[in-house]
Amino acid sequence: MARYTGAVCRLCRREGQKLYLKGDRCNGPKCAFDKKAYKPGMHGSGTRRGRRPSDYAMQLREKQKLRTTYGVLERQFRGYVAKALGAPGVSGFILLQILERRLDTVVRRAGMACSQAQARQLVRHRHFNVNGRVCNVPSMIVREGDVIEARTNSRDHQAIVGSQGRGVQPPGWLEVDGDARRVTVARLPEPEDINLDIDEQQVIEFYAR
Ligand code: SF4
Repeated sequence: MARYTGAVCRLCRREGQKLYLKGDRCNGPKCAFDKKAYKPGMHGSGTRRGRRPSDYAMQLREKQKLRTTYGVLERQFRGYVAKALGAPGVSGFILLQILERRLDTVVRRAGMACSQAQARQLVRHRHFNVNGRVCNVPSMIVREGDVIEARTNSRDHQAIVGSQGRGVQPPGWLEVDGDARRVTVARLPEPEDINLDIDEQQVIEFYAR
């Protein structure tokens, strides 16, 4: 499975927005976005300020922000958009719902990983069971009633315990039993459960061109 392995702080600086890709570092004094408040690269602090971006450019940036936030590569993301467009309802919200229901996102939202990348790695390294069976597929889409729990030998894993110690408040659609390292999908996410500074409708418009 492919993934982006470059410098992630560049991605925040590129988008001009904190995407919180590095866990605790994002809220500390070492955040690259706070330290270098200009675009990365040779011309990052250059002279092209003030130009109004085209509609296409704005849609592209929103799409990249969403993709980066959830650590999804273009091909898979395109598949999610196709699914959202084909489903009844508001396509932008359905796209977000699919991304939220990914197993790695659930692990992160439940506070058992401090970033999307760490959640992905924990899943890949077989630290979680889904409905009693080991699952190492970060892109697995969870359903209502699914139970995700750390495997017996992984309950005291440093990354999981450390992340739980941060006291993240899980969204209402997930019931978390911190001591048992268990998450139950009580219901599917609603719009009020997804709090992102991204315009998902622009993402849909990008692909509808
Ligand atoms: Fe983005 Fe976090 Fe890096 Fe700051 S520390 S630039 S929020 S990934």
